[in-house]
Amino acid sequence: TSIPRASSRRLENPDELIDSVETFIFDCDGVVWKGDKLIDGVPETLDMLRSKGKRLVFVTNNSTKSRKQYGKKFETLGLNVSEEEIFASSFAAAAYLKSIDFPKDKKVYVVGEDGILKELELAGFQYLGGPADGEKKIELKPGFLMEHDKDVGAVVVGFDRYVNYYKIQYGTLCIRENPGCLFIATNRDAVTHLTDAQEWAGGGSMVGAIHGSTQQEPLVVGKPSTFMMDYLSEKFGILKSQICMVGDRLDTDIVFGQNGGCKTLLVLSGVTSLQMLQTPNNAVQPDFYTDKVSDFLGVKAA
Ligand code: PLP
Ligand code: CA
Repeated sequence: TSIPRASSRRLENPDELIDSVETFIFDCDGVVWKGDKLIDGVPETLDMLRSKGKRLVFVTNNSTKSRKQYGKKFETLGLNVSEEEIFASSFAAAAYLKSIDFPKDKKVYVVGEDGILKELELAGFQYLGGPADGEKKIELKPGFLMEHDKDVGAVVVGFDRYVNYYKIQYGTLCIRENPGCLFIATNRDAVTHLTDAQEWAGGGSMVGAIHGSTQQEPLVVGKPSTFMMDYLSEKFGILKSQICMVGDRLDTDIVFGQNGGCKTLLVLSGVTSLQMLQTPNNAVQPDFYTDKVSDFLGVKAA
């Protein structure tokens, strides 16, 4: 018989948690903002944590923007966050290729949006695909054979609102036919919340298409995989036990923190409700949960 994991506790004493770590990793959507709207109390909370000398890092699975583009978004929302503190899954894809010394004379085929292209460019990698292939159509005349670039050594797949059959076939050909070609996924989120009205197909749907056609497992660089946590811990020289991961999703954020051996705090300001956390078939239990990050400023007794 397995011992059930202790269920999470409501955050009653934020100061104790704050004092127990040196770094906070914040997920973005559902924690800092919702879509384009800042969540109440975030600026004051970040200021307070900084005044206590805490290192703040922001990690998002949304690959559609580069860290520079996210820098602008933080600025627009009135938040004092620098590009160097932002780690999007678009950046993670480029950082991963750098970490394995992906050859500069090889190319990357992108099924994804602008953020990935921008990060690949900054890292000095050659790429093709992306939004430019969004309009391409295949004319299926008898005997038609689609050509592909034999120098593509990696296919990076992220959330892509312009995904089409051309891109799926192109990526598939590269992975199947170019020896050693890597299949990299920025993230596999099943759903995203483009609007509040409903759940929308997430980056996992584009990754799933290429998984389906190649039968290859992608290497995931975003949450919950350990790549970004290892990268951050090495880059900043932080012990993972000195990190608290703050997120709104159990399957990405909380598992990301737990895989890294960090402390974990679930906020209920995003996609997970208290009821979902407490349902008997949910096995993912953060150390703590609270309504929103501004509860760090002092949790009011109910
Ligand atoms: N991917 C896409 C396309 C999104 O729109 C979002 C949220 O807006 C996410 C992923 C998840 O982002 P985060 O990791 O910041 O919650
Ligand atoms: Ca989130």
